[in-house]
Amino acid sequence: MLMMKSKNRINAISAVIFIFLFFSMPAFTLQVCAATNLDFDVSQANIEQITKDIVDYGPRSYFDSNESSRQQVSEFIRGIMEGYGLQTSFDEFYVGKPFDVTGRNVIGVKYGSNLKDQIVIISAHYDTRPLSPGADDDASGVAVMLEIARLFQNYSLNRTIYFIAFDGEEAGMRGSRNWMEKHEDLKGNIIAVVNVDMVAYGDNLSVSCLPQYSWLNNLFQASVESLNLTLNEERTRKTGLIYGDGGAFLNSYIPTIVIAESTINPYYHTEDDTIENANFSLAKDAAKIVAKSVYRLANPEDITPPEVKIEYPYPRHTYKYPYNSLIYNVSENSSIDVFIDGVSLGYIESGHPIFWAEGTHVIKIRAIDSMGNAGWDTVTFRINPKAYYSTQTWENGTAYTTIIAIILFLTFLATSIMMLKLKRKSKRK
Ligand SMILES: [Zn+2]
Repeated sequence: MLMMKSKNRINAISAVIFIFLFFSMPAFTLQVCAATNLDFDVSQANIEQITKDIVDYGPRSYFDSNESSRQQVSEFIRGIMEGYGLQTSFDEFYVGKPFDVTGRNVIGVKYGSNLKDQIVIISAHYDTRPLSPGADDDASGVAVMLEIARLFQNYSLNRTIYFIAFDGEEAGMRGSRNWMEKHEDLKGNIIAVVNVDMVAYGDNLSVSCLPQYSWLNNLFQASVESLNLTLNEERTRKTGLIYGDGGAFLNSYIPTIVIAESTINPYYHTEDDTIENANFSLAKDAAKIVAKSVYRLANPEDITPPEVKIEYPYPRHTYKYPYNSLIYNVSENSSIDVFIDGVSLGYIESGHPIFWAEGTHVIKIRAIDSMGNAGWDTVTFRINPKAYYSTQTWENGTAYTTIIAIILFLTFLATSIMMLKLKRKSKRK
């Protein structure tokens, strides 16, 4: 009896423990969720110090004959990245005409865990215009990027983050274009690029982002709201995106957002782009916004990509008439990018009529959800005005091939049997 009682007591205790653990589960889950809601303790002093240190090396331009300042700064940046626990490397490249120099991007990687192959890039450029100290353009961006590396060092992330300090932006985005050309294989792995270029002048920040990447803009706006800051949209969609390092990624259809000051800096590209003329409180805000947005993206709440189904045109059909409506369905709220024959046309809504040229065409529709998960569908069809009907299936051709194959096989079989019979007959004789 006594034994039984103590056994019962043990059972009761384990039941209590089980119930406790069971009900505390949601609390643990909540804590993980709360982590995505955290505000990083951004150090304005660190951003200011790094900017000052970079500026102290002097102008960093291909147009100047002296290459040593660029080399020294690249080593300085790599040293800081190492200190923040990143896996660093130099990416060297020959710049080419009219500059007979070697360029050098600085890369620092923080590897993710279960979504290691999915990459988020934070980039800025460390080179300048000739004679310009480049405090705002773009030592400030490099400093913000490095500050985020410092803030992230004690957190584990699911996706991988590349921190890249590009060289040669002022000479036609040489560094970013070279890096992208060399890493074509990573194209499909890059979830998003956040380019930080000029964030230390005036009192307001802006983002530039194409409509087909609106999910990225939404992510940033959500961070800004929760931080009680403001962020203008699309200050200069053209200049901000195309003429900066973001352009190299947009060329490869990679979702890209650029964060920059809203006011045009009158000192930029001049000798007066100095520490004294920079506003580091604005750079601090930029770091807060980027840190929060990228952290959320690196630990996505959802990893299921949207399902895309192109309803019309039908796959492998020939159409007599060149006008067709593009009709598709997407399983969840997403940003849409329509590719026709390999070229992105941006967002085109379902039902939009398209007039096609004669020949074969490929439509690909890519949908990206709020956490950067991409799904797509592809359809190949043909426009042939000489077709008998308005639509014909290519499969007809395949059917004939199958019938011919069956006939050939049966003939082969019949011949073999006959040969066998003839052989047996001759043996009997
Ligand atoms: Zn710049």
